[in-house]
Amino acid sequence: MDLFEHQARELFEEHGISVPRAEVTDSPEEVRAIARRLGGRVVVKAQVRTGGRGRAGGVRIAADPAAAELTARQILGMDIKGHPVRTVMVAEPVEIESEFYVSYVLDRGAGRFLAIASAEGGADIEEVAATRPEAVARVPVDPAQGVTSAKAAEIADAAGLLARTVDVLVRLWEVLVREDALLVEVNPLVRTEQGRILALDGKVTLDDNAAFRQTRWGETELAPDDPLEAAAAAKGLTYVKLDGEVGVIGNGAGLVMSTLDVVAGCGARPANFLDIGGGASAHVMADGLSVVLADPDVKSVLVNVFGGITACDAVAEGIVRALDSVRPTKHLVVRLDGNNAARGRAVLDARAHPLVQQATTMDGAARRAAELAHTA
Ligand code: GDP
Ligand code: MN
Repeated sequence: MDLFEHQARELFEEHGISVPRAEVTDSPEEVRAIARRLGGRVVVKAQVRTGGRGRAGGVRIAADPAAAELTARQILGMDIKGHPVRTVMVAEPVEIESEFYVSYVLDRGAGRFLAIASAEGGADIEEVAATRPEAVARVPVDPAQGVTSAKAAEIADAAGLLARTVDVLVRLWEVLVREDALLVEVNPLVRTEQGRILALDGKVTLDDNAAFRQTRWGETELAPDDPLEAAAAAKGLTYVKLDGEVGVIGNGAGLVMSTLDVVAGCGARPANFLDIGGGASAHVMADGLSVVLADPDVKSVLVNVFGGITACDAVAEGIVRALDSVRPTKHLVVRLDGNNAARGRAVLDARAHPLVQQATTMDGAARRAAELAHTA
């Protein structure tokens, strides 16, 4: 789960990394009051969990409290790459002398972390990385060793950073470890004209597997922006909204990903990823169906289940009970295969729901769901 900038800022501050003074609000009047508290001139920053806010007009300097309120009115409600701006952070402005980039990211392939750092940070870092990769240092970090002062000095040296950033690099590693993060990034880390080293923007991605021991952020603070994703998360479903028209439900992440590919291969576009897991009980199937059917973009639904430990007849019973509680308004194509497939199909046949059709193969099911979506 990604954190907002202001949440990342809070973590940095707690771990001793200097940040500009700032406050968060959803009210333009309050922005004016905050600007007054911070000395008048402020930076108003859209709080959205995506980068490139500056470029999108979501980071703006305001000369005085009245201008800050006006700027906040313009930024609140903006849409930045599909993310609605619901709150802004109001920060004291900083005179920037130079901008650096520093991050730690999990390198799954190598089973290690990677420190990425550059003396040319700021909004153009992606371009720098693409056109002049030598300006971006990549230093492997052994998770068992961590980032000691010596390691931090090695990273700073490789990237050509000021020696004074070593302390930030050590503390940033502490943020990653203590908060169970998969990514911590500061861009830009700046040297101000007054000579201070400040983290001006931060991104932190938490490891969801550690949520049980990270109780600091509540469910509402971490809820996804997309309302369907938020509803699915509240029901404990693994759901990702996509922009197609064929709703997809399957058991097992690998099967669901293959199903998305097969739907795309049939000339349609999947509307979502939804893995209901191995159990696929009636209750989970009903939750899944209700989320998928609530998506106005969905024109047909493809349910693709491979019975393993959970037999297909149990899954079919689940689907039948879900049909009674959810009452679908769109066509469903169900493909059951694997353990007890014949019995499962018989259960659905016996129910004879007018909107439910069965297919025996994954390809056939995807083709049918695509046709139904196109004619709906
Ligand atoms: P991002 O575009 O989402 O990465 O948002 P940032 O918070 O990184 O802001 C983008 C750019 O705005 C930074 O790289 C800075 O150059 C600039 N910026 C942000 N805050 C300040 C500030 O207080 N003073 C000045 N002069 N520039 C700022
Ligand atoms: Mn940034």
